[in-house]
Amino acid sequence: FNKIAEGLKKTREKFFGNIKTLFSGRILDEDVLEELEEIMILSDVGVESTKDILEKLKERYKKEKSEDPLLLLRDIMVEHLDNKPLNLNPDKKPFVILVVGVNGTGKTTTIAKLGKLYKEKGKDVVFAAGDTFRAAAIEQLKEWGKRLNINVIAHSHGSDAAAVAYDALNHAISKNKDVVIIDTAGRLHTKSNLMEELKKIKRVIQKVIPDAPHEILLVLDGTTGQNGIIQAKVFKEAIDLSGIAITKLDGTAKGGIAFAINQELKIPIKLIGVGEKAEDLQIFDPEMYCNALLG
Ligand code: GDP
Repeated sequence: FNKIAEGLKKTREKFFGNIKTLFSGRILDEDVLEELEEIMILSDVGVESTKDILEKLKERYKKEKSEDPLLLLRDIMVEHLDNKPLNLNPDKKPFVILVVGVNGTGKTTTIAKLGKLYKEKGKDVVFAAGDTFRAAAIEQLKEWGKRLNINVIAHSHGSDAAAVAYDALNHAISKNKDVVIIDTAGRLHTKSNLMEELKKIKRVIQKVIPDAPHEILLVLDGTTGQNGIIQAKVFKEAIDLSGIAITKLDGTAKGGIAFAINQELKIPIKLIGVGEKAEDLQIFDPEMYCNALLG
């Protein structure tokens, strides 16, 4: 029973699953390649990634005289993706994760799920309620904290987010905590102010722990396609993202988006969300992902 395979069901059934039939009993000719291209573009793999993958497929199919083009395609797809999974057993203590992203992408849920993943590894986790802008954000995170038995450091609505991060880090140091996960605001309008706020949070974190944050994760809604990628570029310019969490891949048939995101942003995918439940956040593994797409 595989959560990732289940989460990518829509994409597999609508698009990628057809590749099997496409390959069955046929050689890899121009017609097949054209159909393959269409399937990949419709799944949001992205024009560049599709081109790269198919060029490699053509070349290696010829050179290696491969008997099984599907296996070859799978290997090439796996190689195409950065493989830098999120470290659930980090050496640094506290390990500091700053989580950024636009409202509604699944940021709070992802933070909660991430906290649960670390807890399951025996780590002592602290949440920092750094979205001081959206009225309900602090309460929402506190609610998760209660449910997961994770401490939440929070100030009042409208207060300085960097000060929350500062307090959370000092709390973590004094209480010998393993992991600090910091929430941030995600207001779409007044974007430049948000980016300044994120930079300030990062500066303040570095005052307490110079080599932190150890991860800056951007949460991206996987159903938003190219718009999500444009959003991501704004964040990437403002602060050095170390990884991306793609959410809601269960809700789309365009689940090939990880290729486009990885290719266009040059940032590794570290997590994928394939459902609303806590166990539906999965460490991104290119091989499992490609297997789930191809079936
Ligand atoms: P935030 O505004 O970015 O903090 O977003 P929330 O964490 O509140 O999430 C917005 C909605 O997306 C909620 O209803 C979540 O349950 C839902 N959500 C988050 N991740 C996933 C996912 O991987 N799959 C699905 N189907 N829903 C998700």
